[in-house]
Amino acid sequence: MGVAQKQTYLPFARPDIGQEEIDEVVDTLRAGWLTMGPKTAKFEQEFAACVGAGVSAIAVSSATAGLHLALEAVGIRDGDEVLTTPYTFTATAEVTRYLGARPVFVDVEPQTLCIDPRRIEAAIGPRTRAIIPVHLGGIACDMTSILQIARRRNLRVIEDAAHAFPTTHAGRLIGSLESDATVFSFYATKTLVTGEGGMVVTRDAAIARRCRTMRLHGIDRAPFDRTSSAEPHWRYEVIAPGFKYNMTDIAAAIGLQQLKKVRRFQQRRAEIAAAYDHGFHDLPVTLPAVPPMGDLHAWHLYVLRLNPDAPLSRDAFIERMEQLGIGTSVHFIPLHVHPYWRDAFGLRPEDFPVAYQEHLRAVSLPIYSRMADADVARVIDAVRGLLA
Ligand SMILES: *Cc1c(COP(=O)(O)O)cnc(C)c1O
Repeated sequence: MGVAQKQTYLPFARPDIGQEEIDEVVDTLRAGWLTMGPKTAKFEQEFAACVGAGVSAIAVSSATAGLHLALEAVGIRDGDEVLTTPYTFTATAEVTRYLGARPVFVDVEPQTLCIDPRRIEAAIGPRTRAIIPVHLGGIACDMTSILQIARRRNLRVIEDAAHAFPTTHAGRLIGSLESDATVFSFYATKTLVTGEGGMVVTRDAAIARRCRTMRLHGIDRAPFDRTSSAEPHWRYEVIAPGFKYNMTDIAAAIGLQQLKKVRRFQQRRAEIAAAYDHGFHDLPVTLPAVPPMGDLHAWHLYVLRLNPDAPLSRDAFIERMEQLGIGTSVHFIPLHVHPYWRDAFGLRPEDFPVAYQEHLRAVSLPIYSRMADADVARVIDAVRGLLA
């Protein structure tokens, strides 16, 4: 037997599930109400209270479902155009296609990799109805500029906040701004997990109501309301051909306990980001942008960018990290280079040069609350060993 101990693999992402989540799920299983019910309602109330500003929260089966519902609720239809960024996951844009609308991509700012507000107006045409900003990695977009443009040009704003809980812009939590709706993801790798799940948050009562109806077959009353209403328990009305997008109480049980820990999780990720920044400051890399003083970054992702003078290519870097037992990823391969988006809309890589060029040198490092200090040190050592 050799003396050298092979280190265990450090995964790129890992959920932080404690005994509290396990107990809450077991409680749900014992209670016997498995689908959307009292725990989902409680999760919605507590999430809404956490965001503040009097928002309503509608729990759904995924952020993709939530984005679809929000676009439907603001009236996006066949032939409409929706502005968004190519530097995102395909879900952001695919939901426009569900409604017969199409995305019009706008390039990103090189620092934050978020939609560049200075390029938005040039992309607005007679069929443009909405903007979907994406808070990339957990840093807020320039929402002040985006909301100003939207107000002036009469556009709806649906925030893709899949990475952005908790994130603030100008001191206010994402979800509490003047957008029409904001959509969070609780997918297994995100900053709050329910396995699969999402939340639509809005201050607009009509949007909230439409999302509630359409998440459950277009039925105007949810099953758990029927138990506590003056109406006969069996009566309901179908008012539209809705979807099956509700959350389950099993998922909500996990979410309820995760919500209590979310600030601690965020602090730990911010600590890891600070350690990385310090560890890499003298390397041929571009560090992730940081928000203005006092604003919160959710740090869902830590996207490092290799500079042209780095001693090895991004692809070789990823391969070497893998050999060292450290998981990494790339966020994102821009949508306009994927075959579907490229061919359906005749897009070329150079159409969005910032998104295209930046993704070629981007690599996401592990950043999650369950990483021990030794794990963080190991990543820093590995990166320095390859790039110093
Ligand atoms: C994960 C993600 C989504 C989709 O979230 P789901 O809950 O998996 O549907 C949407 N947009 C972005 C930017 C994402 O990263």
